[in-house]
Amino acid sequence: MELIRDVTEFVSAEGAEIGATLFPFAALGLLGLYILWLVIGYLRVSQVGLADSATPEPVLSLTSTDEASRPRGVPYCAFDGLQYPLGARYCTACERDLLLDCVNDGATLFAGDASCYRCGTRTGAAEPALLG
Ligand SMILES: [Zn+2]
Ligand SMILES: [Zn+2]
Repeated sequence: MELIRDVTEFVSAEGAEIGATLFPFAALGLLGLYILWLVIGYLRVSQVGLADSATPEPVLSLTSTDEASRPRGVPYCAFDGLQYPLGARYCTACERDLLLDCVNDGATLFAGDASCYRCGTRTGAAEPALLG
């Protein structure tokens, strides 16, 4: 019986030691996930920056937020009143999804939409070849 008790004590002591050894790794794993999450967030934002620098067209302020005078088929942020080159999807100022008016019927779409939900006209967002 002496031996069995020794073995039991040995195992429980060993188990606690393994737990203490693994705990920092578990904490590191969580920290790694957190950093990964931050990196993904950063990449999403920096993608907007890359898209902007790839096109020579500057970000313009809308001369008017009036719907009738707004150019159709051009991505814009209704919140900041900024106009973006074709292919832009997110506002660099507030990170909202950009809107885009259908060139055919003026329906308000998201800049990332490939075509108009109302008339099916292609927005050009999914056709980067048109950018050149
Ligand atoms: Zn904005
Ligand atoms: Zn349309």
